[in-house]
Amino acid sequence: MSKGLPKRSEDYSLWYNELVKKADLAENSAVRGCMVIKPYGYSIWEKMQAELDRMFKETGHTNAYFPLFIPKSYLSKEASHVEGFAKECAVVTHYRLKNAEDGSGVIVDPEAKLEEELIVRPTSETVIWSTYKNWIQSYRDLPLLVNQWANVVRWEMRTRLFLRTAEFLWQEGHTAHASKEEAMAETVQMMNVYAQFAEEFMAVPVVKGRKTENERFAGADETLCIEAMMQDGKALQAGTSHFLGQNFAKAFDVKFATKEGGLDHVWGTSWGVSTRLMGALIMAHSDDNGLVLPPKLAPIQVVIVPIYKGEEQLNAISEKAYEMMTALRKVGVSVKFDDRDTHKPGWKFAEYELKGVPLRIAIGPRDLENGTIELARRDNLTKSSFDLSSEPIEVMIPRLLDEIQQGIYEKALNFRTEKTTEVNSWEEFQDVLENKGGFVSAHWDGTSETEDKIKELTKATIRCIPLDQKEEDGTCILTGKPSTGRVYFAKAY
Ligand code: AMP
Repeated sequence: MSKGLPKRSEDYSLWYNELVKKADLAENSAVRGCMVIKPYGYSIWEKMQAELDRMFKETGHTNAYFPLFIPKSYLSKEASHVEGFAKECAVVTHYRLKNAEDGSGVIVDPEAKLEEELIVRPTSETVIWSTYKNWIQSYRDLPLLVNQWANVVRWEMRTRLFLRTAEFLWQEGHTAHASKEEAMAETVQMMNVYAQFAEEFMAVPVVKGRKTENERFAGADETLCIEAMMQDGKALQAGTSHFLGQNFAKAFDVKFATKEGGLDHVWGTSWGVSTRLMGALIMAHSDDNGLVLPPKLAPIQVVIVPIYKGEEQLNAISEKAYEMMTALRKVGVSVKFDDRDTHKPGWKFAEYELKGVPLRIAIGPRDLENGTIELARRDNLTKSSFDLSSEPIEVMIPRLLDEIQQGIYEKALNFRTEKTTEVNSWEEFQDVLENKGGFVSAHWDGTSETEDKIKELTKATIRCIPLDQKEEDGTCILTGKPSTGRVYFAKAY
């Protein structure tokens, strides 16, 4: 049952928006570009947060919290940073409302104007480096490895649920180091953490790479990223890790006494992933029946639906269901028994399909007699009967969940492989972008001008210079100038 979802192949964009709403993940709010994340959507985000948080802690980071408001003067201290973010800042100018004299409602009290305007954080480098100035004096205070979970605001003009919103939830790591090498190693490490998370938990294969100067974070010397591919062949930047050099240390005068007795500016990094990952997860795996969630991030991994007539049958099935739930919960499987009598089994089947629950177990009176259950897999929509005496359920189910996780990843990987094309001429480049989509691996002359020109002509951007780029002599697809390696182009979200 499709629950009235538009077909993915007919209108991908509409399919995505409807899916987000129908699967109870999120909805638009009164403020354009801001979304309400609904309980089911938030529970997936919480699972993402829990795994990422564990990975950050395993790599030595600790959490802290910095304020939402940034004095305007802070933002302007790092020149390229303010230039990059100025166009999308929300600014607080007043701190009080009052009743209008003509009785027309409340108005901003002109007398309550802030002395210094405040920026609602679009990212926290400035407020954090202004704090680090007080925390760092000597090499003994380094490295400083801090992460914050927070919301940020970027006044985006073209928004889409999860993928690009005006307010979004994210984590931002901000680290300070005594040497360039150490900061660079941290930048690489966090990109690898993101890649591992995307592949092992989200089941989304990613390309690791460097951004070109055009696409670099405002204030960074180098931006590393992970790029994922969605089912419509468009790319999505899923995470970034920035090497900040000494830029913010210089802007905020953060110096440390070196081991050798000198004084030097601190080296920095910052890295973040956001609720955009929810969009990536949805777009990478789901189908016309609804969400397909990888078991490792599914809030409910197994649902048990009883098929019965009358209380007596329900009681007998419930007994079996509770027994299975206890066994499964003991091995860490999250399982739900849906014995509501307000909905028919068929309705429930469609509902859990829409919500992407990886495994559905149905038990009817005949199953009880035969010692079987009906198993339905969400990923490939297959159904089978399982004989409970053949293997303990607490062994079979976790194995099947692993198999599904792996299967979803491989499907996405095969899709990406099929949608990655090497081209050697401008004609081929245009043809692939128009008719096939996906990543286009091509030679580029290394200049921002050519990159801009290609974007203008085709809407494709350089997603990244892959980290595993092979040295290969070639000529730029647009200008014919020499190049020493291929980069990935794609149309992107
Ligand atoms: P940045 O600070 O620009 O490197 O972005 C950090 C992370 O936030 C990246 O993983 C981006 O994909 C994500 N991100 C940037 N802008 C938005 C947005 N408007 N909505 C959701 N996620 C975003």
